[in-house]
Amino acid sequence: MSDTKNHIIEALKKQISAFQAEVTVEKVGTIVELGDGVAKITGLSNAMALEMLEFPNKIFGVVLNLEEDLVGAVILGDYTEIKEGDLVKSTGRVLEVPVGDDLIGRVIDPLGRPKDGKGVIKAEKFYPVERIAPRVIEREPVNSPLQTGIKAIDAIIPVGRGQRELIIGDRQTGKTALAIDAIINQKDENVICVYVAIGQKESSIAKTVAKLEEFNAMAHTIVVACSASESASLAYIAPFAGCSMAEYFKDQGRDVLIVYDDLSKHAAAYRQISLLLRRPPGREAFPGDIFYLHSRLLERACKMNKEQGGGSITALPIIETQAGDISAYIPTNVISITDGQIYLESDLFYQGIRPALNVGLSVSRVGSAAQAKAMKKVAGKLRLDLAQFRELAAFMQFASDLDKSTQAQINRGLRLTEILKQQQYCPMAVEHQVAILYAAVNGFLDDIEVNKMKDFENGFHEYLDGQGKNLLKSVKKTKEITEQSETELKDMISDYKKIFQS
Ligand code: ATP
Ligand code: MG
Repeated sequence: MSDTKNHIIEALKKQISAFQAEVTVEKVGTIVELGDGVAKITGLSNAMALEMLEFPNKIFGVVLNLEEDLVGAVILGDYTEIKEGDLVKSTGRVLEVPVGDDLIGRVIDPLGRPKDGKGVIKAEKFYPVERIAPRVIEREPVNSPLQTGIKAIDAIIPVGRGQRELIIGDRQTGKTALAIDAIINQKDENVICVYVAIGQKESSIAKTVAKLEEFNAMAHTIVVACSASESASLAYIAPFAGCSMAEYFKDQGRDVLIVYDDLSKHAAAYRQISLLLRRPPGREAFPGDIFYLHSRLLERACKMNKEQGGGSITALPIIETQAGDISAYIPTNVISITDGQIYLESDLFYQGIRPALNVGLSVSRVGSAAQAKAMKKVAGKLRLDLAQFRELAAFMQFASDLDKSTQAQINRGLRLTEILKQQQYCPMAVEHQVAILYAAVNGFLDDIEVNKMKDFENGFHEYLDGQGKNLLKSVKKTKEITEQSETELKDMISDYKKIFQS
């Protein structure tokens, strides 16, 4: 009897000596002030900037302001159930989003949660939303083209991989259309695309996703969606989150195209948060660091050198202007950050010139270095012809009184303008672009009526697909117009012209 008693005592002693109390320290603060998705919290003296906070009901927030005895945080999600006096836990982690191959083909919110009802996403890794842009020595100049499939852009304002090219214009001028066509055109180019929709209507986002699906473009695309009805704090995070997702692929040496549609709404969301956090307002009531906000975002788009894997992120930010005013605060900021801008104009759009590209005000500061040789050959002349046409366009109404050469230049310009028009969702392969532009800038189309131009072009492409397969292949492969292919192309053009005119 006493034996078993001793046994039990021994066993108890053993357990007691092995017992170790585990103390976990949780930093918990209290909400002292709350309003419109912004909370002031006491008791979190160790919080970091951009640290994730856990509010009741598994709602997360992010620390943005570090003040003497308070921290200011934005709540990511439904803040209506949170009250003053609620406890807030700090997590010790800065805001992160899931990244990885599993995101491709999905529609997600800025925190990486699925929005398309296609089940959970297995994240390979988590990346912080704010990451420091690669240093100069890790980069390389832009040296390979990113084909958008849009004639006017690939020829006149080419975009290179790793470039940041702004798409700017009034509302309803085809800004989104350009970006979506560029995404569709990456189908066979081995480029991953990220489309970040900020502050758009749910219905517009749904339409865009449906179009991407229709053209099989979701297979290489991630859509990060934050609609107009969602909180400003999520809109503020969205482009940074999208960029982190893009960086995952860039770090593997792949090429990525990211579209921020649009940064005007992003700036407005940031202004809203900043005013609620009582940061001092500056010009147009935007906070003083709005330039830094967009510059640190766009600096993350770049081309890495070979040692770093050679990946790239090409960024197409979109800015909406009011009545064509590109000298407003946010447009000038983003123009000065990017490597060029594609300026779309309402007047041109309504005249039926679509894409409504203003050739005079649009530039690409680095892309022409990356343009294919074949395209360079036709693009130089195209730019010159169009510039001359613009100067003479004012005289067009006196057409009959003009001398022969002026008349000829106007005729050429009219035809080039017609050739540069392009339907939505019809991105064109570079070899086709080169062929038709070659015909136009070398005057082969000068004797075809302007209103027959579209028919001629469509027919010509079909004819090339049939008869000129080898020619197309050779241009595609060598990216050049060799002497041999030039004579072949000339023959093709005159042959098809005969067919067309008869
Ligand atoms: P918002 O300011 O509303 O975002 P946006 O500038 O993004 O507008 P889109 O939505 O891309 O403009 O286009 C506006 C309309 O013009 C759409 O109905 C679109 O189908 C049409 N459109 C755009 N590009 C072309 C084109 N190349 N050819 C024909 N129609 C076009
Ligand atoms: Mg749009």
